[in-house]
Amino acid sequence: NSGHQLLRDPRHNKGLAFSEAERDAHYLRGLLPPAIVSQEHQEKKIMHNLRSYTVPLHRYIAMMDLQERNERLFYKLLIDNVEELLPVVYTPVVGEACQKYGSIYRRPQGLYISLKDKGKVLEVLKNWPERSIQVIVVTDGERILGLGDLGCQGMGIPVGKLSLYTALGGVRPSACLPITIDVGTNNETLLNDEYYIGLRQRRATGEEYHELLQEFMNAVKQNYGEKVLVQFEDFANHNAFDLLAKYSKSHLVFNDDIQGTASVVLAGLLAALRMIGGGLVDQTYLFLGAGEAGTGIAELIALEMSKHVRQQALSALSTDQPVHGVLRIADIELFVQTELPVDDCRKKIWLVDSKGLLVESRKESLQHFKKPFAHEHEELKTLLEAVQSIKPTVLIGTSGVGKTFTQEVIEAMASFNEKPVIFSLSNPTSHSECTAEEAYTWSKGTAVFASGSPFDPVEYEGKTFVPGQSNNAYVFPGFGLGVVISGAIRVHDDMLLAASEALAEEATQENFDKGLIFPPFTNIRKISASIAAKVAAKAYDLGLASRLPRPDDLVKYAESCMYTPLYRSYR
Ligand code: NAP
Ligand code: MN
Repeated sequence: NSGHQLLRDPRHNKGLAFSEAERDAHYLRGLLPPAIVSQEHQEKKIMHNLRSYTVPLHRYIAMMDLQERNERLFYKLLIDNVEELLPVVYTPVVGEACQKYGSIYRRPQGLYISLKDKGKVLEVLKNWPERSIQVIVVTDGERILGLGDLGCQGMGIPVGKLSLYTALGGVRPSACLPITIDVGTNNETLLNDEYYIGLRQRRATGEEYHELLQEFMNAVKQNYGEKVLVQFEDFANHNAFDLLAKYSKSHLVFNDDIQGTASVVLAGLLAALRMIGGGLVDQTYLFLGAGEAGTGIAELIALEMSKHVRQQALSALSTDQPVHGVLRIADIELFVQTELPVDDCRKKIWLVDSKGLLVESRKESLQHFKKPFAHEHEELKTLLEAVQSIKPTVLIGTSGVGKTFTQEVIEAMASFNEKPVIFSLSNPTSHSECTAEEAYTWSKGTAVFASGSPFDPVEYEGKTFVPGQSNNAYVFPGFGLGVVISGAIRVHDDMLLAASEALAEEATQENFDKGLIFPPFTNIRKISASIAAKVAAKAYDLGLASRLPRPDDLVKYAESCMYTPLYRSYR
């Protein structure tokens, strides 16, 4: 009887890898065929099977089945084949999986909290079998990847993100909890889909929505305490900024679409500047797209810039050197004693939304997160006009609209910059503002390019350029690990900056020689450990860490905390 249970328990099942002695000790005789195989051999077989599926969704389903059958093998596979399997368990394939989630649904992989559970959310949390949760990823399904409102079927996202928390960041699987909050959907196709698994009603908004979220956040704290990290994922921007602002005061919360994206992109920028020279303060930035990603990145750049200015100012004070950048020398004394001029730094950052450049005269009608970037300037409607007028050194696409970095735009960037920095971050590939090939050929090989979706290397005039992928998976797993191991009770922006700096340091001269500003994913667990160490160190410095005493060597400590999926022996 216990042997049968062991084989049905994904956390302990090893399939044919149970040894003779284990088969004797755990009543497994006869329940398995005689062959005994190693974990490596099982891995080889499953990779062979996966590669034989030509439909990407079938690979996704096979991976989910494996996760429900043999958890350690699932994570071993994911870790050892990260570049190949990341697109299967996460974007782009997870997007298709969410669209068809009702049809492929087999077993609940996370917790569903719907409007029906109002008043009972704490009870719902208590139904989850695991007690000690460290990371929750929660979505309300309203803006899944670039696919829009997928309602309850957004569950694929928290499930996928948490599998990366474990595989890339080493957070124990049992400490991860995926949650979908179902407040309805405005997606007509789903409302009419006979296999839809969510509430068949239009989205609750206003008070009804906020009451359920408040009850959820209270219940989380009551059930798991102060130190559980709640990651908001794929909420629409009309809720995302407000939820983050509201709950960051009382809870340990993180929004990957806003903060995680910002941290990764800032890392890419810092690495790009290491490659081409110049400081963050010496650049002028122009964004196409002023939503969660665009303004999130812009805010973090402004914050990091202000720290650099402060450092420059401090050293100028001690050496009597004039300060280069946004500060007048006369302000320095005052500035060093008072607060950082983040607002001055924002003046170097411009954004274009669907209506044109953000400018002072539009301020009244702008959403609050855009207002800090509405500067004094004439109104301009198009990106090209904005590029020509502002002459940015860095151009970043976060609009979700493909083909918007046209030949004219890229040629203009190359005409006034020796090495224009161009990031086209919109996903999926068809939404990318330009392709890698377009960026390199139209800039005549001068662009430093990165993208949200992966592109193959490009040959241009005999040189091979390798575009970097600004993938959020570089930061959030290590960031979360750092938060968990330090017992941080709040997320502070300086912890995001620490993560950016840690990631930027991982790019090598060898990467730069190919034009690559992000390190390869093959080393991601090592990278996650260094990010975790820097994030934890910052949490300790800020007095936000509750795990005391502070370990001497945080990198070693982070590594020692990481889950590894090797089979254990049950003798
Ligand atoms: P969002 O909050 O909806 O923001 C989109 C922004 O783009 C809005 O400001 C919108 O203008 C603007 N926009 C839409 N169409 C435009 C057009 N034709 N011209 C100029 N601006 C236009 O979405 P988000 O969460 O920021 O995501 C945006 C994109 O970034 C998505 O494609 C996503 O995949 C990508 N992304 C990439 C990464 C990464 O590379 N790691 C991370 C996160 C997001 P209005 O405000 O006027 O509506
Ligand atoms: Mn997301």
